Amino acid sequence: MSNADNWMKTIDKPLIIAGPCSAETEEQMMETAARIDPSYVQVFRAGIWKPRTKPNSFEGVGAVGLKWLMGVKQEFGFKTAVEVANAKHVKLALDHDVDILWIGARTTVNPFTVQEIAEALRDTEKTVMVKNPVNPDLELWIGAVERLKAQNIKNIAAIHRGFSTYKKTKYRNNPQWQIAFDFMNRMTDIPMICDPSHICGNRDGIAETAQLAFNFEYDGLMIETHCNPDCALSDAKQQITPERLTEILKELELRKSDDEDAVYHSNLKRLRGEIDETDQMIIDSISQRMNISAQIGELKKKHNVAIFQIERWNQIRQQAVERGAKLGLSEEFIDKLLKAIHQESISHQNLIMNKNHISSE
Ligand code: PEP
Ligand code: MN
Repeated sequence: MSNADNWMKTIDKPLIIAGPCSAETEEQMMETAARIDPSYVQVFRAGIWKPRTKPNSFEGVGAVGLKWLMGVKQEFGFKTAVEVANAKHVKLALDHDVDILWIGARTTVNPFTVQEIAEALRDTEKTVMVKNPVNPDLELWIGAVERLKAQNIKNIAAIHRGFSTYKKTKYRNNPQWQIAFDFMNRMTDIPMICDPSHICGNRDGIAETAQLAFNFEYDGLMIETHCNPDCALSDAKQQITPERLTEILKELELRKSDDEDAVYHSNLKRLRGEIDETDQMIIDSISQRMNISAQIGELKKKHNVAIFQIERWNQIRQQAVERGAKLGLSEEFIDKLLKAIHQESISHQNLIMNKNHISSE
C-alpha cells in the first residue's frame, strides 16, 4: 500500500507524533516533552478539549493548555498538534501557533461541524488531520477531507484510529485495515497516519500495531505518551512512557515501496502468478459449490422443506473450523468466509424456490 504522490513523502522519515492524551498540568507537559527523544519524534500532541463518553469525567484543561504547548515548542523545538472540535477551538489554536490541527473521530461523524471547522481554516497553510469516524463509514471519512479541500486547505492527512464495535474484540477500536486501504486507494494524495493507541486501548499491542502500519507503508504514527501513564486523567491504560516509546520506535522496521533488485522482482512475479492461479481455483470451487447448492434447492422445493437448517449449518461450520485450525486459519476468518458463502448459497436456493413458486401459481 502506498500513497506515492502525497506531500509527506518529501520528508525522509515517517512523521511521528507523540504526547499525552490530555494536557493536565504544565509540569506534566514539560516533563513528558523533555523525556521524548527528538531524533525520533517531530511533533508533540496534547488534547486540550476532550470529548468524553460519560459526563463528570475530566474534560480537558481548555485554552491554558495551548500556552503550555507553546512552551513545549519554545523549549524543545517540537511542532505541536491539538484536537479541534469547533470554530472557536480553531481560532484559539491558530492564535497559539499550533502546527497541526486534527479533527477527532467523534467530530468526523458530523458534517455540520466538519464544515464549520473547514470554513474556520479556509486557506490555511497549517496541516489539518482527519481521524476516521467512530463508525466504519468510508464515505464520511472521505467527505470530511473533501470539505477541507473545498476550503483550499492543502496540507491534509488522515489518521486511522480504528472503528467502534458493540461487541469488544481484542482491540478498543477494531482497525478494519481494509477501510484504510480503500481510503488510500481513493485519496492517493492524502498521507495516512496510524494511531495504535486508540486502536489497541492498551499498552501491549502498540508495538505490533505500529509495525503493521509500517508494513502497509503508512506515512507516520500518533502514539499517546505520558510521563506517568498510570496516573493519566484520560486513556491511562493505553499511554506509554517516553522511554518505552523510544524503545518501540527503535525496533520498528521501515518498509520501502519497492526494490530495484532483479531477483526480488522475478520472485515476486512468480509468486503473484501463483496467487492469481489460486484465486481462480477458489472462485471455480465456490461456483461449483453453488451449483450443488442449487440442486439441493430443487430437492428441498420438491419436498417442501425449509431452506435454512440450523443443525446442518452448525455441522458445516464445525467441520470447516476444525479443518481450518489444522491448517493455521483462524476461527474468526473461517467463520466470516463460511457465512459469506452460506449467505450466497441461501440466496441461490431462494431464487429457485421463488421461481418455482411463481410458476406453480
Ligand atoms: C485522542 O486522540 O485523544 C482522541 C480523543 O482520539 P479519538 O478522536 O480517536 O477518539
Ligand atoms: Mn486519547
